[in-house]
Parts: sequence; C-alpha cells; structure tokens
Amino acid sequence: MAPRVPIDLHIHTALSPCAAAEMKPAEILLTAERAGLAVVGLVDHGSAGNAGAALRAAPAFEPRVLVGIEAESTEGVHLLALFDTLEAVADLETVLAAHMPDLPNRPKVLGEQQLVDEWGEVRGVEDRLLVTATDLGVEEIADLTRARGGLCIPAHIDRSVNGLLPLLGFLPPRLEVDLLEVSSALTPEQARERWPELAGRALVTGSDAHCLQDVGRAVTWIPPEFAQADLEPKKWGEAVARELLRA
Ligand SMILES: [Zn+2]
Ligand SMILES: [Zn+2]
Repeated sequence: MAPRVPIDLHIHTALSPCAAAEMKPAEILLTAERAGLAVVGLVDHGSAGNAGAALRAAPAFEPRVLVGIEAESTEGVHLLALFDTLEAVADLETVLAAHMPDLPNRPKVLGEQQLVDEWGEVRGVEDRLLVTATDLGVEEIADLTRARGGLCIPAHIDRSVNGLLPLLGFLPPRLEVDLLEVSSALTPEQARERWPELAGRALVTGSDAHCLQDVGRAVTWIPPEFAQADLEPKKWGEAVARELLRA
C-alpha cells in the first residue's frame, strides 16, 4: 500500500473542563508534530474560545490545524464541527450559544475552563457551562456546520455516553455527514461488525485526548497528498471519505 500519514481530529484544549491545564494549543501542536500527525482537530465542548490561539500558533508547526467545537445535540449526541477559519467557527459558536442554557460552570466539580493565547498564557476563564446539550437535533448541527463550510463528524458513535448509535439506535436517514468517528475502544472493522448499518460509511478514529500523553493515541491513516489538500474542511472531509472507502 502507498505510504500513509496519521491524523487525529479529536483533541481537546484546556477550555474543556475535563481537559488538563497542559492542553495549550502550542503544546498540543508540538506534541502532535513529534508524533508525526499530519492533520489535527482541536476542539472544545460548546465553545471555540481557544480556536483563535490555535490558528495563530499553527504556522509554527508541521500539522495542518482544524479548529472546532464538540457540540451536544438535544438527544445528547456529541458531534465534532471542524473549520479552518476563525470567522466560520465563531459564527457557529454564536448560533450554538443561543441554543444552550445559560448556566454557570461549576469549576470545583467539573473543572476550570481556561482561555489561553498562542503563547500559552492563561487569558481568562469561561464562566458559562460548556458541557451541556443544545436544543438542536443531530441533523440540525450537521446542517449548520456544513452551511459554514465545516466538516461535521459524529464523535465516538459507539460509546454509550454521548455516542450516536447507543443513544439513537440507528443512523438518522437525514443526517448528512461524510465521516463518522468510532472511539479508540474498538476498530472501524469491529464497529462495522457490531452495527451492519455502517457498511459503506467512511469511519475515522481519534484520540479524544484530554492530556498531552493521549495526543495521537488513536489515529486514522490517509495518503500524504490529502493532508495538505487546500480544500475547505467540508470538501476535504468528502475527499477523505471517498479515499477511505476506496482503500
Ligand atoms: Zn464527546
Ligand atoms: Zn471529545
């Protein structure tokens, strides 16, 4: 088989209350570079507050950087919404925020939500509760992401907590996504055996890293020419899906 390079599209920053404070964009990107990752996705629950810092830090490092939000649907399903511009991800963040309850975070119980800059300095904390569901359906979140040129990937679809298949029991027929993420607990082949409806669907896996040690712990392999493809994330996801299904 032609040489392939690893990508990890599901890495949290320190803005996620469950993530370690060491998860600053530059540290994540340095770790990703050392792990040989060609493309990374940096996300946080319900917010893109560290996306600007990640995009500003990105040119100093090898991996192509996508930034995004891990959104939660009204059904409790997690979906990654990945972008390559701050404008697009900030626009989605605004829409999602209007569909989330305005509740305070409980840092002592849930963890602190740190806003950092590209140099790793803590610039503040987000007081709003970010790990919470929107009142939007899975299809709506996918549509909102695609409408902004973003790549929507239902996250850890096999997981009983916040995973699409255990929660809904099926793939919604109107859900327009090109890639689906299985957790690191099983391989795409094992997922296909367990859920026959995944036949013909392109599956990726990602680390869902909350600490530096886990960055690149689970990856998807793609041809190197796809890594630097100059396509908007939505089109890039379509191309990667076609390639994964062809392989
Ligand atoms: Zn999740
Ligand atoms: Zn996650």
